Amino acid sequence: MTNVYERLGVAPAINACGIYTDLGGSVLSSAAWKAATEANASWASIPELLASSGARIAELCGAEAARVTPGAAAGIALATAACIARGDGPANEALPSTGERPAGVLIQRAHRYKYERCARLAGAELIEVGSDSGTRPEDLEAAIAGGSGTVAILHAAHLDAERGALPLAEVAAIAAADAVPVIVDAAYMSYPTELISSYTSAGADLVCFSAKYFHGPNAGGFVLGRSELIEAIAAVDFTEFESGSWRSFGRALKMDRSTIVATVVALEEWLALDHEERWCDYERRIARIEHELAGPAGVVVEARQFTLDERIVEERPNALVLRSRAEGSSAAQLAATLAAGSPPVLCIVADDALVACVETVPPEADDLLVAALQHALGRAAVTA
Ligand SMILES: *Cc1c(COP(=O)(O)O)cnc(C)c1O
Repeated sequence: MTNVYERLGVAPAINACGIYTDLGGSVLSSAAWKAATEANASWASIPELLASSGARIAELCGAEAARVTPGAAAGIALATAACIARGDGPANEALPSTGERPAGVLIQRAHRYKYERCARLAGAELIEVGSDSGTRPEDLEAAIAGGSGTVAILHAAHLDAERGALPLAEVAAIAAADAVPVIVDAAYMSYPTELISSYTSAGADLVCFSAKYFHGPNAGGFVLGRSELIEAIAAVDFTEFESGSWRSFGRALKMDRSTIVATVVALEEWLALDHEERWCDYERRIARIEHELAGPAGVVVEARQFTLDERIVEERPNALVLRSRAEGSSAAQLAATLAAGSPPVLCIVADDALVACVETVPPEADDLLVAALQHALGRAAVTA
């Protein structure tokens, strides 16, 4: 039987890049896949399923409430819409037009980043706070007090330690004084798992996570937070568009029941996973691949960690970093050779090095990865 990818003319690839939306996110575990299959086999009320799955996630994460969303990007858009409409039907239906309603979302200068655009999707106007030298508490206070009305602050958790940025706890304290909700993008902050509940503990009102980073569906995620605001998200999401009174903003951001249950099961598994063993497993596999690759002259192979914010660091390894001194074998050329192979092997180029991340390579494909790397390095040696 022909593989569906091949039938559609797409080559199944070995993903040695890591978790990327453009490569399909991650692989569902057998438990998440089983749950998705079970959900596929029978209908259920989606509003009921979202209410109960949200309650389960809130319980797991020690939060007041939660709601499954079709990813963290959608989570940011829905959280913003909820902060603008606050459960008001006509306001919800008008989005992204906000009319006379306040719709300012504050963002620190040091936090400007690509996903801020998802807040604008809901009709919010992004207002930058601070300057190149940073954001001071008084800058944030003045921004909240002035202008056309602040409905939320968008805070990128992974940029919390940026130079000049006000940390979340300080932002949340200032925001709370004026009852302004803080929306946190914590898309990939699900490991170490203690991080998940740390943002609500620090005072965040709504926290967005992506399921792609905890081995859930590529189009799954959830928002954790205060009950009242999670209810406001439920009011603007895709549910009850047909049966309810309002043509909700979130109708285009819909999910199937399989995605909803797979998100919960993947999270349950992620919280119960032996992460120490996960890292030891990467270490063992990397050591073996490194050993197999020893040979080609002029190639330095190192075990390194490739972080979710795409830096190569000397922490516990999840990746092999290859630097070749041979001419004609730049990292970009090696990556191109690997991607042109059969099957294509997709690697990252960072810091002029080739990065092969094993996290997303199925262990049974390690030999294939070794062979592809040897072939690419061999070819480079011949060309040089
Ligand atoms: C991936 C990512 C998102 C978007 O998450 P999706 O679940 O793919 O929508 C948002 N913010 C950050 C920092 C991300 O890495």
